[in-house]
Amino acid sequence: MKITHIEHIGIAVNNLEESIKYYEGVLGLKCYSVEEVADQKVKTAFFMVGETKIELLESTSPDGPIGKFVEKKGQGMHHIAFSVDNATEALKTIEERGVRLIDKTSRKGAEGLDIGFLHPKSTHGVLTELCSK
Ligand code: ZN
Repeated sequence: MKITHIEHIGIAVNNLEESIKYYEGVLGLKCYSVEEVADQKVKTAFFMVGETKIELLESTSPDGPIGKFVEKKGQGMHHIAFSVDNATEALKTIEERGVRLIDKTSRKGAEGLDIGFLHPKSTHGVLTELCSK
């Protein structure tokens, strides 16, 4: 398993449109994609920052993972995603290293990437995602 770079940083927001205004109007970034990921109950917006993306996440349902997160902690940093060569292989390797996984095997995430999450209880408090093309 080899991590090549930070693929994206996931940020939970209350309102995607309002947040896009901030990232574009204040920070001068350009939103290049808005996408709904139905099985995660989120709407996402993407910005490119060098090789790394910012992924804004607005919940489409209070019982989705982002809905629950925002209710408990409010909007803010949600997860960090590392780019790996093969997410499924990397999940297996990391599990063998004693880390608890949320996803035992990779699934399709936003932008058609293969993704999987590690459990924050096993990662020193950071919800960690692995993705590969
Ligand atoms: Zn993500």
